[in-house]
Amino acid sequence: MTPDPALFTADFKTTPYWWEAAPRPEIEPAALPHMADVAIVGSGITGLSAALTLARAGRSVVILEKGEPGIGASSRNAGFVGRVLKHSFSDLMDRHGLERAVDLYREMRHAADAVRETVATEGIDCHYRMGGRFMAALSARQYEHMAREFERRAKHLGDPFEMVPKARQHAEIGSEHYHGGVVIPDLAGLHPGLYHQGLLDRARAAGVAIAAHSEVLAIEKAGKGFAITTARGMLGARDVMIATNGHTPAAAPWQRRRVIPFDAWMIATEPLAPDRIARLFPNDRVYLDYNTNIFFFRRAPDGRSVLFGGRTGSRFPDIRTMAAKLHADLGAIFPDLKGVRLSHGWTGRCAATFDMYPHAGVRDGVHYAMGYCFVGIPLGTHLGRKTALRILGRTEEARTAFDDLPFRSAPFYRGDPWFVPAAMKYYDWTDRRSL
Ligand SMILES: Cc1cc2nc3c(=O)[nH]c(=O)nc-3n(C[C@H](O)[C@H](O)[C@H](O)COP(=O)(O)OP(=O)(O)OC[C@H]3O[C@@H](n4cnc5c(N)ncnc54)[C@H](O)[C@@H]3O)c2cc1C
Repeated sequence: MTPDPALFTADFKTTPYWWEAAPRPEIEPAALPHMADVAIVGSGITGLSAALTLARAGRSVVILEKGEPGIGASSRNAGFVGRVLKHSFSDLMDRHGLERAVDLYREMRHAADAVRETVATEGIDCHYRMGGRFMAALSARQYEHMAREFERRAKHLGDPFEMVPKARQHAEIGSEHYHGGVVIPDLAGLHPGLYHQGLLDRARAAGVAIAAHSEVLAIEKAGKGFAITTARGMLGARDVMIATNGHTPAAAPWQRRRVIPFDAWMIATEPLAPDRIARLFPNDRVYLDYNTNIFFFRRAPDGRSVLFGGRTGSRFPDIRTMAAKLHADLGAIFPDLKGVRLSHGWTGRCAATFDMYPHAGVRDGVHYAMGYCFVGIPLGTHLGRKTALRILGRTEEARTAFDDLPFRSAPFYRGDPWFVPAAMKYYDWTDRRSL
């Protein structure tokens, strides 16, 4: 069915809201060097974070990017800076013991800290704000489950939290949809377009060559290094890193067989009166629910639009059809927004893994970091840097709690994620059972 045109502003765009303040950079693709110390495939947060560390350590670095710099998920996401894994702390404790659970969640804290430190030390103006996160329960049972999980995290990790019962939730959110929730005061949000732009500027200033429109077609061992074939010619590199997450190409077949790409979807409302938005989000936090397949939302940094995402892993014939569905979801949670029009609707490609952990390592001499399961701002920043340290031979500093996890594929899987919509339906079913 064709979506109702009244849902959209006259100048509705199918590109990310973030690109208004951070338009796609127009930089001349760097000439391909004959030889580089390190070639990095992908110009998102992961690739830039690694490149910056390597260039500052004196390595010659070229980033090979298929499209324009940052065209992947890094400039399209919601800007939440979190520190949770898809495995709850309680599940990890029960399955692997307290020590392992603490190690894994501490690593996630390091990842979130890496974003704060990067923004501060690099002086990136990207609306980074530690305004806290409100995680909303969809039932009384979820609320109880949430309380147990956060009590355990507070006890063993020292993570602060405050449970907010339904009777008091209007102080946090202008919606009757939820059964209370939890405030995590020390989590942040940022403007992902500006964060990516800041990383790109710093990397270029440090001497990183950004070879846009240089799709990597093949990577082959050659002597002590690699020969890389791109759409713009060939080059050699002593080390290679794959930083392509949900876009991992056939040129990196081992990694491609291990990540499960899936599409995520977002909309932005037309500008609204700031006091209207402030009634919905009184404390200007970032917001999501406690399901596995979540809805996530926030004010735009200028306080005038609502940004809303969900239906992750679904497939739609076009952006307007998707946007109409998310508009209905938004109206169900905030009836006050039923009549607002949408100015933007967009998509981006993320990656999950078969064990739902992020993975970074080296295979046949090729370094990689990927599979962030929706936490790519912190993990891309952190594991990008850790991978650079490994390439620099600083093995101790490069260590992470994820190092020993085997990076598994599944029989017959070659990187075509035909099963994602079915998997998301399964998660919807388990989410309903958790209510
Ligand atoms: C809608 C949405 C909301 C999200 N919300 C959040 C959030 O709130 N918080 C959070 O932490 N994470 C979030 N994520 C996830 C996060 O954006 C990603 O995990 C992260 O950006 C991954 O960064 P990356 O640099 O590894 O990969 P990407 O930014 O995806 O970059 C990969 C790059 O590789 C390039 N590439 C692919 N193949 C080749 C090739 N053959 N040759 C050269 N280049 C190639 C691509 O063109 C692309 O530019 C969200 C994602 C989406 C889509």
